[in-house]
Amino acid sequence: MSGASVVVRGIGQLVTCAGPDGAVPVADRAVPAQERLGIRHDAALVVEDGRVAWLGDDASAPAADRSVDLGGRAVVPGFVDSHSHLVFAGDRSAEFSARMAGTPYDGGGIGVTMAATRAASDDELRALLAGRVAEARGLGTTTIEVKSGYGLTVDDEARALRLAREVTGETTFLGAHVVPPEAREDRAAYLDLVTGPMLEACAPHARWVDVFCEPNSPHAFTEVEARRVLEAGRGAGLGMRVHGNQLGPGPGARLAVELGAASVDHCTYLSDADVEALAGAAGTTVATLLPGVEFSTRSPYPDVRRLIGAGVDVALASDCNPGTCFTSSMPLVVALAVREMRMTPAEALVAATVGGARALRRDDVGHLGVGARADLAVLEAPSHEHLAYRPGMPLARALDL
Ligand SMILES: [Zn+2]
Repeated sequence: MSGASVVVRGIGQLVTCAGPDGAVPVADRAVPAQERLGIRHDAALVVEDGRVAWLGDDASAPAADRSVDLGGRAVVPGFVDSHSHLVFAGDRSAEFSARMAGTPYDGGGIGVTMAATRAASDDELRALLAGRVAEARGLGTTTIEVKSGYGLTVDDEARALRLAREVTGETTFLGAHVVPPEAREDRAAYLDLVTGPMLEACAPHARWVDVFCEPNSPHAFTEVEARRVLEAGRGAGLGMRVHGNQLGPGPGARLAVELGAASVDHCTYLSDADVEALAGAAGTTVATLLPGVEFSTRSPYPDVRRLIGAGVDVALASDCNPGTCFTSSMPLVVALAVREMRMTPAEALVAATVGGARALRRDDVGHLGVGARADLAVLEAPSHEHLAYRPGMPLARALDL
């Protein structure tokens, strides 16, 4: 279809998340989220070569090679899910049941997934990954970041990233997810591996490096260890991301800001100094919140009002993973953010689109301004508010043009 143009008509409500000129997202945090949505009614847009070439009133839509009529449905920018762990095998539903019966989570169950993932063939992992990406797309996600982290050997981590690269450019090396069971006697040797041969094998398939910086889990990494992992990744040309402040107060957010990481993810337990540091790093480091985790682990939600009030850049993502949140549904994440974290529907939608794009340092996705990728999510609804208003309903899907 290269070169063919498509006019998408009959858009009852078009949320562009772009400025009034339709060109660029409104970056000014002082602008209320409702205005940042850039809403148009009875709209149309023209797609050429996979990009938005024109948008405006349906009544003045130009002709194109093909026409699609959405019958008054709402369109929002496809969700940008900037945090997922989709390359894995095995089943941990029993662990979920145990947790719901009162067993606390400390990050140790990752070993179960690791064993199953190592044992799976390339084709098995590829099929599982493809199925999960299709599920996400079926719920409106058009950009997804995928991490390694369930191989934890040189070959298994490189394989996970090679497979992830087949479905997304946003691949993240997470060899420092946990210290694998066989390496627990010698953490220093595992750190040498992660920052040496494993990084070398993985960097060609990765855009990012990540670390589970969580002194509250004996399986995860301390500040000193996390710094070493991030600096090694940066030295190999990778951008930096951090899992931090999930299970208790910790150094993750501070470290992410200090090193200029693109995002620190979880942010449930932040000190005043952490919030201040993140506010000062707006435009560089995003605080990515993952409320599906708190929902699935029955844990306290992060205080997003405190972050927004301080001027922190906020994103919402799924953290889809087999241990603490086995859902990639961004509509569910938006609904949880609104219902449980008291974001407005507008704030939540901006965080799940523009916010995710910023967390991945992308300006071509997360909005539908002219020139952006034509990643459209269609809603079986007249307005975007239905995402939170009708939780659990299959309202959103990525539009195949
Ligand atoms: Zn994660």
